[in-house]
Amino acid sequence: MANPDNQPKILISACLLGNPVRYDGTDLFLDHPLIKKWLDQERLITICPEVEGGMSVPRAPAEIINGDGKSVLGGKSRVMDIEGEDVTNSFIKGALKTLKMALDNDCVAAILTEHSPSCGSNRVYDGSFTKTKRDGVGVTTSMLEQNHIPVFNQEQLEDLQAYLESEAYED
Ligand code: SF4
Repeated sequence: MANPDNQPKILISACLLGNPVRYDGTDLFLDHPLIKKWLDQERLITICPEVEGGMSVPRAPAEIINGDGKSVLGGKSRVMDIEGEDVTNSFIKGALKTLKMALDNDCVAAILTEHSPSCGSNRVYDGSFTKTKRDGVGVTTSMLEQNHIPVFNQEQLEDLQAYLESEAYED
């Protein structure tokens, strides 16, 4: 089924659709009926912000040091990889390209992978590289939210469905 009614598009993290673009070359394929439905309707726009930012697969894992995506965009925190390289600029470049993709396609919301320093929307790794998380959002999530594109994680698909049905995005 294509999208004859021109239903609103949804941005989605590439790894959730089975693309092996995570830092370790794996994916996080999300087998869910809503994803299948939106795919069939050709409403999903796929992107990996870190790949868009020029990062390779595989790549060294990175975390936000002393903050979250909001403070990175505010110039108060940096993103470092585990080898000590500052990858902040790649993360910001990827966030900007993701925002452009969302705007070009009139996406009304995004489904992004929780905990990632790019895509997290509730909690992100805390910069200690010990798998510890802190409250906060990723760099791309912050970029989208600052531009009024709400971000849902992979556990919130029903919430997104309710949001789409509420037509709140038309406000
Ligand atoms: Fe997935 Fe986002 Fe990480 Fe890319 S940056 S691998 S889309 S979580």
